[in-house]
Amino acid sequence: MSTTNQALFERAQRVIPGGVNSPVRAFRAVGGTPRFITRAEGPYIFDAEGKRYTDYIGSWGPMILGHGHPAVVDAVQRALLDGFSFGAPTEREIELAEAIIALVPGVEQVRLVSSGTEAGMSALRLARGATGRSKFIKFEGCYHGHADPLLVKAGSGLATFGFPTSAGVPEDVVKHTLVLPYNDIAALEAAFDAHGKELACVMIEPIAGNMNFVRASVPFMTRLRELCTAHGAMLVFDEVMSGFRVALGGAHSVYQRLIPGFKADVFVFGKVIGGGMPLAAFGASREVMRQLAPLGPVYQAGTLSGNPVATACGLATLKEITKPGFFEALAAQTRRLVEGLESAARDAGVPLVSDSEGGMFGFFFFNQLPQNYATVMTTDSARFNRFFHAMLDRGVYLAPALYEAGFVSAAHTPTDIDATLAAAREAFAAL
Ligand SMILES: *Cc1c(COP(=O)(O)O)cnc(C)c1O
Repeated sequence: MSTTNQALFERAQRVIPGGVNSPVRAFRAVGGTPRFITRAEGPYIFDAEGKRYTDYIGSWGPMILGHGHPAVVDAVQRALLDGFSFGAPTEREIELAEAIIALVPGVEQVRLVSSGTEAGMSALRLARGATGRSKFIKFEGCYHGHADPLLVKAGSGLATFGFPTSAGVPEDVVKHTLVLPYNDIAALEAAFDAHGKELACVMIEPIAGNMNFVRASVPFMTRLRELCTAHGAMLVFDEVMSGFRVALGGAHSVYQRLIPGFKADVFVFGKVIGGGMPLAAFGASREVMRQLAPLGPVYQAGTLSGNPVATACGLATLKEITKPGFFEALAAQTRRLVEGLESAARDAGVPLVSDSEGGMFGFFFFNQLPQNYATVMTTDSARFNRFFHAMLDRGVYLAPALYEAGFVSAAHTPTDIDATLAAAREAFAAL
């Protein structure tokens, strides 16, 4: 063994703040040393010490096919040989746009960008530009990337404006951001009563994956749509995580099944559509998208937007997940995991609840499924942290914080899931 995770972490911390290029990788919530990954294959990742882990993060969602899927690797290799980046349009961008539009009813045009942050920020600008309004609502516990106006925590009391979550974000910049508790119809109605005609949009993670796994309730989503329509505010679905992950048509298709006539106005995608490459998108009706430059007054641009290698990777990924039976099989594996976790916890007398949709799941050391961020944060974090490390020791890589969702890939076999459940039984017994 040439090096250790600890040695790499120490070296990393000398040249990279906290040793990581994105905070949650640092294991601050759970403690301990982050694993430095050297390679990945199917459902597994391998660290610098040669230890293998069954991966339930999948790069935080994108790796829905598992790592190194042959069709994706082939597409990327062929694209690389044709050139890395042109700064000019390509046919592949049209193909990816067409593929997204075909899968998500309501999206008539998309613009490709390089990260979910960029897509969320641009969707907000588009909604503001199209409505001529400044204020908007977001929900506590929903993450829409790290653009200034979206880095806001809830103020005290209902229908108050929030305050910055991060140093470096002036209060002036977030004074138009209204933060409400998730799944709270009364708070939503109060906010629309007070500010309805000033609201450009409401941005929501319809199945939230950044406060563990929490669904918007059907009555809440129904009322949200009614209020947006009544007040001329756009409903923005941030499906960076849930898109092409909880179902082929994303969470939007889930709510369309549950609420007759339901449709969001603006859509934000990322993660799965890049298949592990930096790629994201936002989309809407043609009428709304016409507001964007070069057609309209809302400026938005990007040197590497629609990158030819990233679009090849995303297209190859979408092609695989569109095959008949893909989501049924993925959902069944994911259910096998969460049902197995619940049953193992029950046998060990450990209170645990879980939920899943498609290839995304969550579990809580709690007696019922939380409906909002505040409740998620009251679940048993000490127990979660012990469980996380017990699983890591046993070669299972779960998200290193209790407020993160988990992901199963199509490369996870029933044998992988069963091995994870066997590890969980030992871990629960050791709690
Ligand atoms: C990951 C995520 C983002 C941000 O995407 P990045 O590519 O990390 O910038 C935005 N919204 C949601 C719902 C996400 O899960």
